[in-house]
Amino acid sequence: MAVSTEMSTFEEVNQFFDQAAERLGLEDGVRRLLRRPWRELQVAVPVRMDDGSIEVFNGYRVQHNGVRGPYKGGVRYHPDADLEEIRALASLMTWKNALVDIPFGGAKGGVQCAPGTMSEAELNALTRRYTVNIEHFIAVNRDIPAPDLGTNSQTMAWMMDAYGQIHGYTPGIVTGKPVELGGSVGRDSATGRGTVYVMREVARDLGMSLTGGRVVIQGFGQVGSWTARIAAEVGCKITAVSDVNGGVYNEDGIDLGRLMAHREDAGTVVGLSGTDMLTNEEILELDCDMLVPAAIDRVIHSANAPRVKARVVVEAANHPLTPEADRILNDRGITVVPDILVNAGGVVVSYFEWTQNLYQHQWGMGRVNEELLQIMTSAYRNVRETVEREGVTYREAAFMIGVGRVAHVSELRGFI
Ligand code: NAD
Repeated sequence: MAVSTEMSTFEEVNQFFDQAAERLGLEDGVRRLLRRPWRELQVAVPVRMDDGSIEVFNGYRVQHNGVRGPYKGGVRYHPDADLEEIRALASLMTWKNALVDIPFGGAKGGVQCAPGTMSEAELNALTRRYTVNIEHFIAVNRDIPAPDLGTNSQTMAWMMDAYGQIHGYTPGIVTGKPVELGGSVGRDSATGRGTVYVMREVARDLGMSLTGGRVVIQGFGQVGSWTARIAAEVGCKITAVSDVNGGVYNEDGIDLGRLMAHREDAGTVVGLSGTDMLTNEEILELDCDMLVPAAIDRVIHSANAPRVKARVVVEAANHPLTPEADRILNDRGITVVPDILVNAGGVVVSYFEWTQNLYQHQWGMGRVNEELLQIMTSAYRNVRETVEREGVTYREAAFMIGVGRVAHVSELRGFI
């Protein structure tokens, strides 16, 4: 479970920003400009629940920085999705989009709710009301939402429909839509695929072999389940996975075909025959080659970081490590590959989807995966070169590149 600390998630992410700003020698005024979100919108989202009662949820859309292009970032449905968390995630999108060099600024949205306890009709109503309440804030060339934790392609279809009722048919208003509605092939697997592309590069640079490499994945949703499947395709042995209910472990490797079938029936990975059960705390402390947190933020913190036994931590989730945990793992010689690099595949294919919508055109899977590979590999190589040249960690290097690009464009546009 995530740990509560004195600092908010946004303050934590800004520690990473400050490290990069310091190394880049950015002046104080520029740091103040880049740290804070440009615009924030809070909305009330009333929903008539199935039992006849009225619930009023908190909804947010934060536009962190738009200097490099339209704001871009997902929409999260989760009980912890408060303004500080959404700000943190929006800022991560700014640095991520700059790092992989796609023409977007950073944004994030969310509704503080527990989607797992809500019916489809309630979620549909919530999504429509949220969209109508932020509709004046977003546009195809201004701010383009996408799925994140607790939302999926169905949520995007509802958002597109609600927006279209006001503005007419506008598929480019969201990405991560079903392919039948103008979504891109390969978007559902993109974050997991990008994660595995990065894992391959890291393994090569650290002299590790992915064939037979033991991989542990916390979270088996959109990101975790695709990471597992694609990692298995390139030869990894998936020894443990978990979802919100707990985890399963088999030191010889989990049969993913059986796991998917079991989850289809049981609604959870827990209970798969031929595996041992473990908790979401225990899974993070397993001996393995690569540990992939792919669920929620701040799961590795000062209390459990000393017990992490992985050789490499691959951040598929956003902000899964607190800054203190990051320091502890670095001191212990564990390589941490940061979220803004690892999980960028999702927004990269969202960018492809948006471009396809602008052209009313559809790419094939071969082109999507080939261009994704090029962008992810080139971003990774840039980070690795910075690690070697500057003697910094992967995270410091990634933030230096992202923050440096945003600062440079701010100057070109005459902001500073
Ligand atoms: P999802 O809702 O599809 O899946 C989340 C998974 O995490 C589920 O298996 C859920 O059961 C599990 N989970 C939830 N709470 C948990 C807890 N307390 N402990 C352990 N497991 C828990 O979400 P997703 O889209 O896969 O997103 C996962 C992470 O990846 C998030 O941090 C998100 O911001 C990040 N991310 C997602 C994308 C994307 O394309 N979907 C892109 C970039 C980053």
